[in-house]
Amino acid sequence: MKHSLRSKLSVSYAVIALLLVAVISIFINVFLQNQFKDYVINQQRQKNQQILSLVEKQYNISEGNFNTSAIENVGMNALEQGIILKVKDEKGSMVWDATAHNNGLCVQMLTNMAKNMISHDPNFKGKYEQTSYPVKVNSNEVGHAEIGYYGPYYYTDNDIDFLNNLNTILVAVGVISLFMALLVGAFMAKRISRPISKAVTAAARISKGDFQQRITEKSGTREIVQLTDTINNLADSLEKQKNLRKQMTADVAHELRTPLANLQSSMEAMIDGIWEPSGERLESCHEEIIRINRLVGDLEKLERFEADNTALYISEFDVSELVRHILSNFENEFHKKGVELKFSGKTEIIEADRDKISQVIINLVSNALKYTLEGGHVEVQVKETGTQVEMIVSDSGQGIPAEDIPYIFERFYRADKSRNRLTGGSGLGLTITRAIVESHKGKISVSSEHGKGTTFRVSLPKSK
Ligand code: ADP
Repeated sequence: MKHSLRSKLSVSYAVIALLLVAVISIFINVFLQNQFKDYVINQQRQKNQQILSLVEKQYNISEGNFNTSAIENVGMNALEQGIILKVKDEKGSMVWDATAHNNGLCVQMLTNMAKNMISHDPNFKGKYEQTSYPVKVNSNEVGHAEIGYYGPYYYTDNDIDFLNNLNTILVAVGVISLFMALLVGAFMAKRISRPISKAVTAAARISKGDFQQRITEKSGTREIVQLTDTINNLADSLEKQKNLRKQMTADVAHELRTPLANLQSSMEAMIDGIWEPSGERLESCHEEIIRINRLVGDLEKLERFEADNTALYISEFDVSELVRHILSNFENEFHKKGVELKFSGKTEIIEADRDKISQVIINLVSNALKYTLEGGHVEVQVKETGTQVEMIVSDSGQGIPAEDIPYIFERFYRADKSRNRLTGGSGLGLTITRAIVESHKGKISVSSEHGKGTTFRVSLPKSK
């Protein structure tokens, strides 16, 4: 059986609170009992000292003996405090002895003390203890006082009441703290589990295709903020993907419709015998098929670069060397069209996917050639700018109208629609180019003047 996070947290808090309260209560109890015991032992010592000094005062120096009746007073007082006093003179003869005075009272008193202590602590090991002190007057020893009591310490009825009250207070404080801890625990469990259950609900909705779902719940816990941000980002990218897919399908259908309709009507005219299937007409149908094929090829490439942009096969290479190699393959085409091709640049090492960067150069150079008339020129430069390496492809061609510049990187966008269908461009070249550059954390920009020429700048991070 699976339990909710909230109930698990509540139970954990309850157990922790219970343990904490128990440990703290036991600790305080033991600490206070020990303190109190030390206090009582100390009190006993002070009482003994007081009795001793009272005994010393009862010595009559001129007569050289103790004032027996005064000693009896001291002894009776001591007895009331649970102390059994015996005083002897310097010759060792007994001056006053509490047990001789009232043995019954002494025995009863000690028995009561033992009972009290056993009722407080059944394991208490106490016994009668006696300490002998020399009685000194003006630094001369004039006798001995034996002070006996129930030791190592004993509690009076008042002391036991005090300890019992202390325990009751401790138990009450423990119960109240436990109750408070449980309340706080339940509140905290709710606070932590609420955003998580909201995130779970939102994630479940997203998984069912409701990509507009977002978690708006705020939280002060970093991990929960990370979780909700991740789910929101996931929903963002799923929504974008969904729109992109829709848009893509619409665009592809739109792009294929015209050439397919042309093909269909031409073929039908030939089948129905309206048109002669002349070599020229078949040639035109063939060209249409080639264009469709090229479009499908470009779509495949775009899909690979856009969707698979994490799968880069990175290596270190010299961009200038790569550009020079590609340009040498273009030389013939440039020569045939009568367009001059120039290159400048020295060794610049980057870490990138060599095949994909080749595709970028081929797309930009072939566009430059395509849109430049005979007698014009195309120049490719490779140069370093700080942490970046720039590849600049500029031509003296027809240029791009200012109103088209913002859209040329969009799928299927052609600045001159009618002409471009004839030149065979699918309108995907720059979209693929930008996807590759961005997957390398690079940037591509364009500046163009209609009728004068165009410059594309690609900047890529330099190898470290
Ligand atoms: P296409 O396959 O049509 O060339 P691209 O995505 O490569 O598609 O380019 C999109 C459009 O941008 C082109 O149709 C063209 O109008 C314009 N364009 C791209 N490069 C140049 C250039 N060097 N000179 C003028 N126009 C260009």
